[in-house]
Amino acid sequence: MASIVPVFVPHAGCPCRCVFCNQRAIAGQSARMTPERTREILTQALSVLPDGSTPQAAFYGGSFTAIPVEEQEALLAVTDEFLAQGKLSAVRLSTRPDAIDEDTLSRLRRHGVATIELGAQSMDDEVLRLSRRGHTAADTVRASRLIRQEGVSLILQTMAGLPGDTRETVRQTAERVAALEPDGVRIYPVAVLPDTELHDLWQAGNYTPLDNETAAVWCADMLEVFQRADIPVIRIGLNPTEELNRTVEAGAYHPALGELSWNELWYRRLRAQLEAQAGGTLYVPARALSRAIGQNRRNVQRLKRDFPGRDIRIKAQDT
Ligand code: SF4
Repeated sequence: MASIVPVFVPHAGCPCRCVFCNQRAIAGQSARMTPERTREILTQALSVLPDGSTPQAAFYGGSFTAIPVEEQEALLAVTDEFLAQGKLSAVRLSTRPDAIDEDTLSRLRRHGVATIELGAQSMDDEVLRLSRRGHTAADTVRASRLIRQEGVSLILQTMAGLPGDTRETVRQTAERVAALEPDGVRIYPVAVLPDTELHDLWQAGNYTPLDNETAAVWCADMLEVFQRADIPVIRIGLNPTEELNRTVEAGAYHPALGELSWNELWYRRLRAQLEAQAGGTLYVPARALSRAIGQNRRNVQRLKRDFPGRDIRIKAQDT
């Protein structure tokens, strides 16, 4: 995938504030994005990339297609300039499912928008309601179809551990998201950020945050679904930053949350393999060896506990 230059538009266009969301903490900035600032960000990013790099510009952190059209156009006029000069390969943006229609999509296509990251978050209407998303699962189905029909690449963003979520609602969300045949998915287990309604709910004892171990188990359930459907998972968990390290107060936040989730998936596979064989030697593809062994050899330890007396060895298949 081409490298991405993020241009954060924190909360721009958002008609409401979702209970979990604090884009200012995630992006580490609060200023409104302007065309001038966009130009500066792109110029600066290109100056440090190797010669000839043609990254994608990505308008993240808000509901881009719900921003007043003239402001969208002013920002896209800047990326148009860079595209015309061959300095960008494409534009991508994140937005809400209820802010997508045919006219918007054709307009975005004219500006070189090749990928839309749609915030599905959950496919359970009660979870969406409790999270104050302001849209339904049906909106995500409709928007996803339109995006695919328009020939735009579709990335669906999902969450785990929202108010009302259970292991089952999260697994169901993965199933329903997979059925929409996105080109990729992101999975964000919920971290409790300051200045959010979720923070207040948690403080009042009305919300139980996910811990990292549980998040890894739920994410592994989702990974199973997406792997079966051959859908790439391009991110698990928030990208750790100094700002987040300082401000996340509870919930699922760990620099290796993605790896922990993959470890859990491999643990399940290897356990099933041991149940079906007599010996303790397990073969995995070389590229998956470190995920199969797990962080600090956690899977080896777990499997030794589960199968006492077996000499557990995890080896690369092609060595
Ligand atoms: S999750 Fe998306 S729609 Fe909700 S407040 Fe945050 S940026 Fe806006």
